[in-house]
Amino acid sequence: MILGGLQKTTLIDYPGKIAAIVFTAGCNFNCHYCYNPELRSFSPNFSVEEFFKFLDRRKGQLDAVTVTGGEPTVHADLFDFISEIKKRDFFVKLDTQGSNPAAVRKLVENNLIDYIAMDIKAPLLRYFDVINCPVNNAAISESIEFVMAHAPDYEFRTTVVEGQLGVDDIEEIGKLIHGAKRHYLQKFVANNNLNDPTYSSFHAPSEIVMEEMRATMARHVGEAFVR
Ligand code: SF4
Repeated sequence: MILGGLQKTTLIDYPGKIAAIVFTAGCNFNCHYCYNPELRSFSPNFSVEEFFKFLDRRKGQLDAVTVTGGEPTVHADLFDFISEIKKRDFFVKLDTQGSNPAAVRKLVENNLIDYIAMDIKAPLLRYFDVINCPVNNAAISESIEFVMAHAPDYEFRTTVVEGQLGVDDIEEIGKLIHGAKRHYLQKFVANNNLNDPTYSSFHAPSEIVMEEMRATMARHVGEAFVR
């Protein structure tokens, strides 16, 4: 594993649990709005040994670990890494953009994942506009279907930048995940460290449009939220 960062505690990332967040380094997408462009490269920031020493010290204080990126599933040894976390009896949440359905399947089928948060970047035909590189649409569809059918608990989530996705796009995403349990629309917040610096002047749609998007999504999923 190549690890890029650690957030030692969060009360808001994993629903109902006190969690640490471990960031894996490296991603196969190139999203314009990526908040962690330094995590797109495969540069280690700290060691796996340090991470497990940290976890062992926090036993009894943390309930869970969120494994996020970058994109965790680009790492062939993700299975072994999460197995080690599970051996220590933590709940595990996996954040993924769904480009590696085989990795997600293997983890879930071996009871190594308790919660999946999967990004749906755009309607399938518009992925390139958001991720800024080619994508295997069949892989994304396979991950969606697998998560909906087999994940112990899950959410889908979509980051919204004004001018990049509109209400019609949210309707298409809704059709793509129709019948899903839960979806979050995430308001894009600009900063000065984005993958595409031109996005630092972009922003989320207005509250009115966000609510229209949420109501559109709510027609397709069990629960639809904005955050
Ligand atoms: S925002 Fe896009 S480029 Fe950045 S880590 Fe996530 S999937 Fe990769």
